[in-house]
Amino acid sequence: MIFDLHVHTNFSDGIFAPEEAVYLAFNKGLNGMAITDHDTIFGIEPAIQASKSLNDFIIIPGIEFGCVHKDEEVHILGYFIDYKSSEIINITNKLRESRLKRGVHIINKLNNMGINISLDQINQTLSNNDYIGRPHIARALIENGYVNNIQEAFNIYLDRGKPAYVERYRLSINDTINLIHRSNGLAVLAHPGILKQKGIIAYCINMGIDGLEAIHPKHNKENVLYMLNLAQKHNLFTTGGSDFHGDKTNGESPLGKYYINLNDISTMKGRV
Ligand code: AMP
Ligand code: ZN
Ligand code: FE
Ligand code: FE
Repeated sequence: MIFDLHVHTNFSDGIFAPEEAVYLAFNKGLNGMAITDHDTIFGIEPAIQASKSLNDFIIIPGIEFGCVHKDEEVHILGYFIDYKSSEIINITNKLRESRLKRGVHIINKLNNMGINISLDQINQTLSNNDYIGRPHIARALIENGYVNNIQEAFNIYLDRGKPAYVERYRLSINDTINLIHRSNGLAVLAHPGILKQKGIIAYCINMGIDGLEAIHPKHNKENVLYMLNLAQKHNLFTTGGSDFHGDKTNGESPLGKYYINLNDISTMKGRV
């Protein structure tokens, strides 16, 4: 029962459509995966439909909310959320609207810096034109020759504190965890190993997080062991996934390389 519990599609900033992501994951030998797009639930239903044509491939409905705490970005994953609830639909609509406004604002800032990039160009790369993420802008900056890769685009322009950074509407950690719980879901702190302020992990535990993501491409062995220990101490479960966006790292796709055994997570196994 190996599952990738962290997958993005082109309904947020992933490259592949949900159907394509499902077939890719199935062909890697996974038994299932969670669709965890940033701030949107639109990729879930198409993935579920695509999985029906396969033998026993399970889709877990999920989402990844981007919060900010003490000026640091904190990502919270929600699993088994009732993605058809009006509350989830209303809040994710609001988040996507704010992203569109922010996208235009970022492009204006870049233009004012003399960088030639347009909303039209970005729109052409979007599969779903109601969602703009910074990775879309990063890809356009690469295409126009301003940077060599996504990392560079963030380091020079797009990251918090960099000249083209623009804030957007977000939920607090507390509101996010409560929203996930009201939606009948389980809340998991995403890639805690990359947090600069380690106190944020304890804060999330105090706020009632249910699990910690232990397996993640940006986690080293120490991070993984630390999360496993901490989870055991606080009676939380641990998850894992590839944070697949479709891009390759050093020529290799992370899909199929980062996963967990769902049988090890009784709280989640009981719900599939
Ligand atoms: P956004 O959701 O538009 O705020 O963009 C956040 C997304 O951009 C993250 O979920 C990552 O996929 C990506 N990202 C954020 N920071 C970086 C970074 N420093 N380098 C590369 N990708 C990043
Ligand atoms: Zn992303
Ligand atoms: Fe994330
Ligand atoms: Fe992610």
